[in-house]
Amino acid sequence: MSVRRATGPCRWEGVEVRAYKGEATHFAGVTRQVLFEGSARLPGQWRYFEVAPGGYTSLERHAHVHAVMVVRGSGAVLVGREVHPLAPQDLVEVPPLTWHQFRATGAEPLGFLCLVAAERDLPQHPDATQLAELRRDPAVAAFIRTGETPATP
Ligand code: MN
Repeated sequence: MSVRRATGPCRWEGVEVRAYKGEATHFAGVTRQVLFEGSARLPGQWRYFEVAPGGYTSLERHAHVHAVMVVRGSGAVLVGREVHPLAPQDLVEVPPLTWHQFRATGAEPLGFLCLVAAERDLPQHPDATQLAELRRDPAVAAFIRTGETPATP
């Protein structure tokens, strides 16, 4: 089908709204829609993610890269050791093997398009040592969410 029409804000005919990943990883309130599966002539996959208010994607890294455009809502992203605010039409490039996490910070969902290579490695999640290393930077420590029960001071 050449044209699949938008049926609402960031919803499309014939595109299933799926839970982001399995149940097991560290994320909250995220849905995933695959807009284009790609092909041999266009070996990429174009997805749309939506993060509910207060939600976040998993803290992860991988050899493959992301090309992201924010299309709705407001949020923030960690890329490496940098935290940046996000607004519609902002562009985010995630380099290889760089820790990253998206969070929705406003009252409406944060929606973004994300292009990846069709053939790609699986995400890695930080182990305790890597998490401790990340948390050495106070700005990173304040930003990241891992789905763990927060430590009581
Ligand atoms: Mn990723």
